[in-house]
Amino acid sequence: MRWANWAGDERCAPALFSRPESEDELAEAVVRGGASVRAVGSGHSFSDIACTDGHMVSLDRMNRVLGSDGELVEVQAGITLHELGPALAERGLAMENLGDVDAQSLAGSLATGTHGTGVGLRNLSAQVAALRIVTADGSVVTCAEGDEDLDLFRAARVGLGALGIVSTVTLRCQPLYTLRRIDEQRPLTDVLDNLQELADTRERFEFFTFPYSGLCLTRTTERTSAPPSERKTWFRDVLLENAALGAFCRVGRALPPLVPRIDRLVGRLASGGERTDLAHRIYANQRLVHFTEMEYAVPRAAGAEVVRAVLDLIERRRLPILFPLEVRFVAADDAFLSPAHERDSCYIAVHQYRGMEFESYFRGVEAIMDAHGGRPHWGKRHYQSAATLAPRYPEWDRFAAVRDRLDPERRFSNDYVRRVLGA
Ligand SMILES: Cc1cc2nc3c(=O)[nH]c(=O)nc-3n(C[C@H](O)[C@H](O)[C@H](O)COP(=O)(O)OP(=O)(O)OC[C@H]3O[C@@H](n4cnc5c(N)ncnc54)[C@H](O)[C@@H]3O)c2cc1C
Repeated sequence: MRWANWAGDERCAPALFSRPESEDELAEAVVRGGASVRAVGSGHSFSDIACTDGHMVSLDRMNRVLGSDGELVEVQAGITLHELGPALAERGLAMENLGDVDAQSLAGSLATGTHGTGVGLRNLSAQVAALRIVTADGSVVTCAEGDEDLDLFRAARVGLGALGIVSTVTLRCQPLYTLRRIDEQRPLTDVLDNLQELADTRERFEFFTFPYSGLCLTRTTERTSAPPSERKTWFRDVLLENAALGAFCRVGRALPPLVPRIDRLVGRLASGGERTDLAHRIYANQRLVHFTEMEYAVPRAAGAEVVRAVLDLIERRRLPILFPLEVRFVAADDAFLSPAHERDSCYIAVHQYRGMEFESYFRGVEAIMDAHGGRPHWGKRHYQSAATLAPRYPEWDRFAAVRDRLDPERRFSNDYVRRVLGA
């Protein structure tokens, strides 16, 4: 068995691979499992967080909706967001917010603190009302938002796969809604000078900016009572998500000195558009061009300064970066290891095209993030360790105490977990 992530640059060879269909089969797999057991979702993390040479357990067969009670919906944890959206819509329900693709499994998304955008909206894990977790000895523990001792619930919502394997998730949903998404090209300076106001006055606001272009594409996504329409945007459908971007990237990879000119051209072509559809269809974009990524959460007020510093780094070093920076906003939440833990955050993501050198760029970006107390997205590339991360998380020790309780023998560890959480 050989396994690779979506980007194709993190690989491993698990000694054992299981695909249980029920919680009982999952518990048996964990008990059978040998020294290291690692759950895997859709492999959409850019880091080695899911890798193991031990026992890899995929929940892709545990993808059913188990039942619902009003706006509470219980699902098996391996369901993908792509399967979840229509299943909720059939019940007249939707998630409050989602990220920009829907290929991930629900449990995988929760484990890394996956988020969308919106100053008043928290990451996906904040939409969880209860969890069932298969622990190291095969027994099941439960936790829920009303528990007297909330530590397990606050640890397990963003658990990095290090506490056990989540078997079912109860989600707190919302009545199904429609979103209108408007993309507009704007000068970068205007957006950075007015960033707080733009984010504050829109339900969901984000922007993309190509280095060297001085331009950005803002994306505003808000609820509407208008009916869904079929209009599609140039940026989303013709440029970013199809072969055109791939062609630009291939030229830039072959001829790096051309990259600034390519970026300026692509920045100008990203001219905007509008689309209205059911929420889960608006959130989900298709990413056909493969890349690797780093993303950091910094305090909201530092967002514009950090973006300027990253662009300055790229332009000063003439780095051949063919992807835009993506800037989003997420409200504070209380999960112990959420990158937005107790802090309203601005998330800044940087990317590099597959097959191009990224480490010197990402390390340069990380130094900027470090200077602003940045917390890395757990599913994306970073070079932190437990020693550098612990001071950034006020409840680090409480997470560690839950981990000691649930997995004293560290059966759910891998190299990544040992690196970021310690032995
Ligand atoms: C194209 C692309 C777009 C993306 N867009 C966004 C975005 O908009 N916002 C954002 O925040 N992130 C985004 N991501 C990152 C992605 O959401 C996260 O890395 C997410 O964790 C991937 O989910 P997965 O199902 O692929 O999990 P995997 O990558 O397979 O696993 C991630 C972690 O989840 C754990 N895990 C999986 N299942 C379980 C389980 N049942 N119980 C316990 N632990 C489990 C694994 O052990 C591992 O630690 C994007 C990634 C890609 C490739």
